[in-house]
Amino acid sequence: MSRPQQITVLGATGSIGLSTLDVIARHPEQYQVFGLSGHSRLDELLALCLRHRPAYAAAPSAQAAAQLRAGLQAAGCATEVLEGEAGLAQIASAPEVHAVMAAIVGAAGLKPTLAAVEAGKKVLLANKEALVMSGALFMDAVRRSGAVLLPIDSEHNAIFQCLPSDYARGLGAVGVRRILLTASGGPFRETPIEQLAEVTPAQACAHPNWSMGRKISVDSASMMNKGLELIEACWLFDAAPAKVEVVVHPQSVIHSLVDYIDGSVLAQLGNPDMRTPIAHALAWPQRIDSGVAPLDLFAIARLDFQAPDEQRFPCLRIARAAAEAGRSAPAVLNAANEVAVDAFLAGRIRFPDIARMIEQVLDQEPVVALASLDAVFAVDQRARALAQQWLARHAH
Ligand code: NDP
Ligand code: MG
Repeated sequence: MSRPQQITVLGATGSIGLSTLDVIARHPEQYQVFGLSGHSRLDELLALCLRHRPAYAAAPSAQAAAQLRAGLQAAGCATEVLEGEAGLAQIASAPEVHAVMAAIVGAAGLKPTLAAVEAGKKVLLANKEALVMSGALFMDAVRRSGAVLLPIDSEHNAIFQCLPSDYARGLGAVGVRRILLTASGGPFRETPIEQLAEVTPAQACAHPNWSMGRKISVDSASMMNKGLELIEACWLFDAAPAKVEVVVHPQSVIHSLVDYIDGSVLAQLGNPDMRTPIAHALAWPQRIDSGVAPLDLFAIARLDFQAPDEQRFPCLRIARAAAEAGRSAPAVLNAANEVAVDAFLAGRIRFPDIARMIEQVLDQEPVVALASLDAVFAVDQRARALAQQWLARHAH
């Protein structure tokens, strides 16, 4: 029997990180944890190290690393602690590593995810913001390095499962008419529009079907998540934005569909539990048990579909326009959204301000080509500065 594969989990302390470790722990003969990273939840990172005994853990700063080392030493755990960006890059690209789960939230995940890509790893991509920011450069790096990029986002994982294995020849060449990206509609799908100005962060984070980190929960409530996913789908499957249609499906049982020119529509279904796409990508092209309960169609009984309401969810329209503009527009969209979501979570702006602010930042920032990672970060910084200026004028 072969040795277990070594897996690094970037963002191990988050929702996707913990689900990944749950799947890995079910298959100790197949997978072993090599590296774990955390950011603010250091106690959780320590507990994960004691449970999974990785060779390395990455902490954000020297101070955090010292705290983690002290905890590990007291417990007699031999995990070595690395620091900062270099530490993340090291656990993402070490020669021993077979696969990297990229589950840091937001732009902070771009560099370590790219480090894994450039090292030619099997990269399980949850960190959609990284791909949205740097799309063309990211996909070029995948092609150059020979990395295997597998989508963790449930919709993209579903699409991947519904496409033929040779889809890289082009969606047209394999007979795809369009991709149908499903969306739950989030917690405010039926909230009267005039009440959206009063909704709280706690209400925005109470997703009806999925349990997730706070940033993606707010993105789901505004449907910016679907906008980011539209851009993500365009890069992953080399699709024009017009080929990707959003379908509101409140039950979150169908995770997305592929519509073929002969009229066949293939869908992937499952309970809304991220351990399914995680297990799929981890074992691909094999299948392993994920711990997810079998789908009970009789209990679900019905599946509903609606067109998205762009008046209620302006972020979807704004993101589609950014996808069509291409080049730097998605990076600006992403940066402005990250600032807006933080401000909303901090109680500084109201929910409808999220879309307002993003649209105004996009209007101010010219669309330019992004030829390097430095250019991506420069645009990201400019957009954040414009967003902060907006906050200075409008926030509480
Ligand atoms: P969480 O907020 O639960 O976790 C985020 C992780 O990133 C944590 O480990 C956190 O560390 C770490 N982190 C936060 N900021 C930084 C930083 N500046 N530098 C390094 N690490 C950082 O988010 P989720 O797990 O929900 O989401 C992770 C990614 O996966 C996101 O991109 C999201 O869009 C995507 N995704 C999530 C889904 C879900 O169901 N949750 C579904 C599909 C995609 P700490 O907690 O220690 O501060
Ligand atoms: Mg998703």
